[in-house]
Amino acid sequence: MKSVTKILKHNNQCGICNNKIDNSMNIYTSKFIPIPACEECSRKYSDEDLEIMLNMFLAYGGYFGQFPQEHFSLKKSLNNMRQIRRAGVEQAEEMNILLLHTALLHGIPPHQYFSELE
Ligand SMILES: [Zn+2]
Repeated sequence: MKSVTKILKHNNQCGICNNKIDNSMNIYTSKFIPIPACEECSRKYSDEDLEIMLNMFLAYGGYFGQFPQEHFSLKKSLNNMRQIRRAGVEQAEEMNILLLHTALLHGIPPHQYFSELE
């Protein structure tokens, strides 16, 4: 179940799409992150995706779809990452996280990223 609430916290901007949140919206509030997600985002994405995205934007900044999707190729980036991993680079895990963040900035939701990863 989604923990959707009508109580508006101090933050009045969606932590995912960066749109303004008004009082009448059913917002998503994370148990762990003090940044809400707007009604539209909470409807569009699973709780898991919402948590991942709020975490990533809190840690690395930016917002979902900040950059045009056509400027980014997830397939190409994942292929590059696989090559780096095969080369035995120790920071592969960190690069995975940064690549996920880059994907989010280009409007690719976590579930899509992870399904491409498999
Ligand atoms: Zn939103």
